[in-house]
Amino acid sequence: LRVTWMSLLINLILSGLKFTAGIIGHSQAVAADAAHSLSDTTTDLAILLGARFWSQPPDSKHPYGHRRIETLVTLFIGIILTAAGISLAWNAISTIHTSLSSPQSTVHSPEATPSWLAFWAAIISMITKEALCRYTLRVGKSIKSISLEANAYHHRSDALSSIPAALAVAIAAIKPEWQMADPIAAILIGVMILHVAFKITWPQVSEILESGASEQARDEISTLARTVEGVRDIHKVRTRYVGAQLHIDLHVQVDKTMFIENAHNISMEVTHRIKNDGPGVHDVIVHIEPFEDAHS
Ligand SMILES: [Zn+2]
Ligand SMILES: [Zn+2]
Ligand SMILES: [Zn+2]
Repeated sequence: LRVTWMSLLINLILSGLKFTAGIIGHSQAVAADAAHSLSDTTTDLAILLGARFWSQPPDSKHPYGHRRIETLVTLFIGIILTAAGISLAWNAISTIHTSLSSPQSTVHSPEATPSWLAFWAAIISMITKEALCRYTLRVGKSIKSISLEANAYHHRSDALSSIPAALAVAIAAIKPEWQMADPIAAILIGVMILHVAFKITWPQVSEILESGASEQARDEISTLARTVEGVRDIHKVRTRYVGAQLHIDLHVQVDKTMFIENAHNISMEVTHRIKNDGPGVHDVIVHIEPFEDAHS
């Protein structure tokens, strides 16, 4: 999990950089972005700690393995991100509220004008995060880790959220009377973060609620089972996810006069074929039953 250690380090460096630049450069949007990067380190830590547990093999207490721990960690990433989005937007709204109710407050004073330092901090952060996103996505897809993929999309949302921050700083630096652009950008960033948070959180909730695989995946599985020689019909295909791993059980009908030995071989072949060619399949359980011809 070198990629996650890297992410942790980069998040720490970026949040330090943006905090400094946001405070010296008087940009609420950039400082808020920094607070967000700092909260991101908790999700990196969760992955680093969690991976030790969810990669354990199944044991007597957890016969289906421990991959659900990854689901919980990913859910946790989503919740942290939701909190970050809400607090960002909330702070910005209260800044706007304060400056509207007292026009001579600090926001409008010349020394509070965002400077180019904050602008460059946002740009550097954006480029670094997008690079980190692409790298994490590649690793996440290759080892089939939902939490790494979630973290990758999270990095992209971080990269995107630096764009309004950079723009707002540029606008306010060029035209100081438009300082309101800074908190408005911060609100926009908050909303973007909430959008990503929802996209990360929802699949985990739906997995915990035992949602099955997509219709396309189920069709694929049924088709694979039907291609096995000796299979007369199949039904009751049930699917569930444990982390990124798909667990399947199904009823397979064979000739009712078939020897048990042959029927068992067919069930093994069905299992084998679905496991090898199915979409991320981890386990298949086949229930054999006699085929009853509807016309006989
Ligand atoms: Zn983030
Ligand atoms: Zn049946
Ligand atoms: Zn067997």
